[in-house]
Amino acid sequence: MKWLKSELERIKEQNLYRRLFHFESPPGKVLELEGRKFINFASNDYLGLASAASLECLRRWGAGSGASRLVSGSFTVHRELEKELARLKKTEDALLFSTGYMANVGVISALAGKGDLILSDSLNHASIIDGCRLSRADILVYNHCDLEHLESLLKENRGRYRRCFLVTDSVFSMDGDLAPLDGLFRLKRLYGAVLIIDDAHATGVVGWSSLELFGLTPDDTTVLVGTLGKALGTFGAFVAGSSLLREYLINRCRSFIYTTALPPFVACQTLENLKLVPERMALLRRRLSFFRNLTGINSPSAVFPYLCSSPERALALSEFLRERGFWVPAIRPPTVKQSRLRISVTAEHTEEELRLLWSSIREFELTL
Ligand code: PMP
Repeated sequence: MKWLKSELERIKEQNLYRRLFHFESPPGKVLELEGRKFINFASNDYLGLASAASLECLRRWGAGSGASRLVSGSFTVHRELEKELARLKKTEDALLFSTGYMANVGVISALAGKGDLILSDSLNHASIIDGCRLSRADILVYNHCDLEHLESLLKENRGRYRRCFLVTDSVFSMDGDLAPLDGLFRLKRLYGAVLIIDDAHATGVVGWSSLELFGLTPDDTTVLVGTLGKALGTFGAFVAGSSLLREYLINRCRSFIYTTALPPFVACQTLENLKLVPERMALLRRRLSFFRNLTGINSPSAVFPYLCSSPERALALSEFLRERGFWVPAIRPPTVKQSRLRISVTAEHTEEELRLLWSSIREFELTL
């Protein structure tokens, strides 16, 4: 398989080579690498809950789950968490998945099929793109958050398809901006479509659900995907929607059916973490508004993009910050069009740390 080597050479030539760093410390605000400490601005652990650990959950349920949910891997604590997530998301019910990637891939490919149309935002997450491809429906990509473009595509295709699906991130993972959910709701109703919203970076950050920001409540043509591995601090994911949707997914969704269940202790720990969310979310809000005011970066979420003029400059800034003890990743094409630092602020960062990070960025701009 020598072609692997030449393919990797090609990736290196394009400056797109990726490697792993193995931190010596557990997940948290401070990362240790080769004996050095870094303040972590690269985490999705927005509420600082990833390090929470209840021995009771682990003792009661063990580390594994033993089987898929439909065989013998479904436990009362799974169901308890599903009901709690549904309550928080204001839906009838919810279904747990093993990861957010699997939730998106599974729900989209289970609902949409040949003869259907999916309209997908141009900046949607890779798992949404893969779900769309797997569905074998026709896919049209509308310009990022552009309701006019979306509506023109809906008009053009009216009556040509069996069913129509709109799919979007609520908070976009690399820009931190918010989808126009009120407009998407209006179009979904007007054109009889189903709206699938990926709330991965919104859950526990902008509220329990992004819909709260718009005063909207989910109806039976709204599907909400959420992850447990970001603000909620554990691992896994869920789809929240109608009871009918849950029943359908249990019967038809391949990434739910053919995989080992989320370990019940993870569900147990998530239930514990949920109790801490309101207080942490209030603290996070204070930190976000502090950072917004400090930097002038107007993000409605915990993701702050700091745009750079070139991939090389983004890498140089990331390196400069690393020298000063900050871990902030440079994100480059093709992941994004314009290179940037993706700064994620969490409830654990102090105002002093945020100030120091920003003054280091200013120092780089003034001196290099
Ligand atoms: N959706 C979005 C918008 C994401 O950013 C991510 C994770 N980066 C996922 C889904 C996948 O979630 P998970 O990490 O639980 O697989």
